[in-house]
Amino acid sequence: PRKVEAHSQLLGRRIATLGPYSPLFYREPLELVSGSGVWVSDRQGQRYLDAYNNVPHVGHSNPRVREAVAKALGTININSRYLTEQPIAYAERLLATFAPQLDRVMFTNSGSESNELALRIARQHTASDGVLISDFSYHGNTTSLAQMTTGLQVAEPLGDHVRPIRIPDVPQDASAQETASLVSSALAEVDRAIDLLTARGHRLSAVLLDPSFSTEGLPRVPVSYLRGLVERVHKAGGLYIADEVQSGFGRLGSWMWGHQRFGVDPDLVTLGKPMGNGIPIGAVVLPDGLLEEFGSRNQYFNTFATTAVPSSAAQAVLDVMADEQLAARAEQIGRALREDLTGYALTDPFVSDVRGQGLYLGIELTVAGEPAPALAGWLSEALRERGVLASRIGRHDNVMKVRPPLVFGSQDARTLASALEDALAEAAQGEWARHAAVGGRA
Ligand code: PMP
Repeated sequence: PRKVEAHSQLLGRRIATLGPYSPLFYREPLELVSGSGVWVSDRQGQRYLDAYNNVPHVGHSNPRVREAVAKALGTININSRYLTEQPIAYAERLLATFAPQLDRVMFTNSGSESNELALRIARQHTASDGVLISDFSYHGNTTSLAQMTTGLQVAEPLGDHVRPIRIPDVPQDASAQETASLVSSALAEVDRAIDLLTARGHRLSAVLLDPSFSTEGLPRVPVSYLRGLVERVHKAGGLYIADEVQSGFGRLGSWMWGHQRFGVDPDLVTLGKPMGNGIPIGAVVLPDGLLEEFGSRNQYFNTFATTAVPSSAAQAVLDVMADEQLAARAEQIGRALREDLTGYALTDPFVSDVRGQGLYLGIELTVAGEPAPALAGWLSEALRERGVLASRIGRHDNVMKVRPPLVFGSQDARTLASALEDALAEAAQGEWARHAAVGGRA
């Protein structure tokens, strides 16, 4: 009872101040009081393995991030219109991870701001405003991004200048011929979308894509599709904006940036979420030519961006990533975990697919061949009861989302796999169907 009381008291205060609409995970929201590495703890001292959060990229309460931030706060952290070293040192370090033509960076405070700015740059460059987006995606919360949100409930209607396209999801066992046919019909849709925008008076300005297609549920997207798409966008005069808020900073393992898995360089790259390990910082990475064009015509000013605290946190993230070889580790641990989980796909009646790359995996749940969002909701609660945090994604909300901090180790992967095995065994008893599934998604 004390647990419920203490808990509901805080929940009550939250609702009394923030209102009831700001989403929380779980039927009974989880109050966390501390975190370290891949572990978080609730008020009662119960520990949970964090297999979900990408903001604490190099681990909760990472000591190097803490020290870097404390140092900057204790020396100089001021309005971005003064010259300070940390943002510059970080910019040099960050740009070294991109293709040579992506040689400039503009700092922001969030993923939304980054996408907003990138679209504005593309709009001015192309003197037009047509935008292609995936038909189940999310890129941020500004007004213009709300007008291109297809994967989350928003009241704003889709903009007349926006056209959603379906990203092809190729089954794992598809033949080369089936793949080619899926790709060609998806590319025909791209052609139609560009024509439609042009006919409406909105020539193409940009395609905005998350290279991991995370909101979409981690579909298997052929390289030939992405190449064909970008070719068409360029031919129509538009720019390719890669939204690396989810897929960046080694999340997908082998590659520092998600777009690299398709071998096509974007015209603009947007960053956020894991960049500062919890300190708000985002960025747009772009070629000098685009920056020059935009910068010479706009007084773009952003108070907190390009300051010492966020860039010191971000620098510490890159330091830890390099010293602990976290991208390579994400590849290795993620691959082993995926193989392990794929075992379930072969034996468990509910697991129809395991997909994703690096430390971003999706476990698709179906019942009698149909997407099973209620089961996915039940499973995320069941994992919580077993001390593991995960969630779900996808257009049917039936793909369990495994996206832990990058310091997730092989023992952690085993802990997750065994909790999942145990929960799925309970699901097989039919327990899940007796509980209506609730709980938020990401
Ligand atoms: N792009 C993608 C792909 C995202 O997943 C998100 C947030 N989930 C955003 C942009 C927006 O980032 P922020 O919440 O930092 O504004």
